[in-house]
Amino acid sequence: MKTSTAPVEYLFDSDVRRLLHPHLPASITDRVIMVEGKGCRLVDSNGRSYLDATGGLWLAQIGHGREEMAEVAAAQMRKLEYFTCFWDFSNDQAIQLAERLAALAPPQIEQVFFTSGGSEGNDAAIKTARFFHYVKGEPKRTWILSRRTAYHGLAYGGGTATGYDDLAEGQGPHLPHVTHLTPPHPYRSSLFVGQDPTDFLVNELEDRIREIGPDNIAAMIGEPIMGVGGMVVPPADYWPRVQQVLRRHGILLIADEVVTAFGRTGSWFASPDVGMEPDIIVTAKGLTSGYIPLGAVLVSDRIGNAVRGFGDGYPVGYTYSGHPVACAIALKNLEIIEHDGLLAAARRTGDFMYQLAAPLASELDIVGEVRHAGMGLAFELVTDSLTRQALPQPNGSIADVIREETGVIVRVSSPTNLVLSPPLVMTQEQAATAVTAVASVLRRARSDGGLA
Ligand code: PMP
Repeated sequence: MKTSTAPVEYLFDSDVRRLLHPHLPASITDRVIMVEGKGCRLVDSNGRSYLDATGGLWLAQIGHGREEMAEVAAAQMRKLEYFTCFWDFSNDQAIQLAERLAALAPPQIEQVFFTSGGSEGNDAAIKTARFFHYVKGEPKRTWILSRRTAYHGLAYGGGTATGYDDLAEGQGPHLPHVTHLTPPHPYRSSLFVGQDPTDFLVNELEDRIREIGPDNIAAMIGEPIMGVGGMVVPPADYWPRVQQVLRRHGILLIADEVVTAFGRTGSWFASPDVGMEPDIIVTAKGLTSGYIPLGAVLVSDRIGNAVRGFGDGYPVGYTYSGHPVACAIALKNLEIIEHDGLLAAARRTGDFMYQLAAPLASELDIVGEVRHAGMGLAFELVTDSLTRQALPQPNGSIADVIREETGVIVRVSSPTNLVLSPPLVMTQEQAATAVTAVASVLRRARSDGGLA
């Protein structure tokens, strides 16, 4: 692989001067400037090679740098680079992708609205849920139920549903009528002690619905399996019982599958696997493997027919909704996921990775729990297995140390989890390299977070 031709010092200085990076303290002036990618490997502007064990941000399902994706993009750009999907305009790529998504999605899902990403999708989903009730003559149904440590993006709608106070600081007032419940994370919640977690969570849900008034609630939004929260797989009876309560009160269910859809957990969609039957599913990320920004909000006929059938029609729309190049790329990406058997690969390699990683929970006191679903793996880092307090990281993120020392890119999330979410094409050999790299650094971590 060749590297960038721009002078490296110029790139570094210019980045520090010009680019606003999400979640980067100003005191950190180091940068890793990626210039090339192939499969699971990346190369930075200094020519250093990395193993991508995060898929960027939970995506890159089909791996980096695939020639056929570039060809599809170029061909579509030559034919029709863009036209709008507002009003009665459409394009052949958006239509074909909507058909494909309706075929892949759970049976209750029939209609599609395109966005540019996950945050926009969650905004659209919240608007759609509220508008649905409005159209149905229940305009007071405006409340949205969410969970703490949920991640629904950082736009104002989905961002308010996101359950981290530090991400919301100083930007208020936020979207009104959003409330946060306890996440289904038994390891992390002392509230469950002596109680069945699902009993506790369902009781809390019922109480909250009673407080707000069921006729004031539009929807509950939730990730089937919490990604940013640390690959939190809920108890098997959690979603079925939550769904039962919501149905009883006419509250819609929005599944945020921005991370989980398109193979991350080994299925096209994770919601059926955890017993959810959502009215609305929000997707993005793996839909294009990141080759171009695109999201899709999938809805049932009940929702779609109601919101398109009122007044001047569906009141949500973005310039890039149904972008033909993005949709052509998504179609090719889905074809590759299917053709290359990447759902099965995600299950196989994910299980393999977990088998290697799981023993660290008994070997090391600072690894409280190892969790996984498909190609998503999290190490819950604690000071000790008794108090389960979050492991401090006094010398910067432990993920940065792993990257510097081993060239394997992992991330810290939520803020006590070390998370791996590699491309689904990762080989077992590469997965073993990634877990070995994580283990080599964790074995040196002390209970105060310092490294021996
Ligand atoms: N929902 C979930 C579950 C996510 O993990 C993310 C991003 N990590 C988003 C929504 C936001 O998506 P985007 O960054 O594309 O706006």
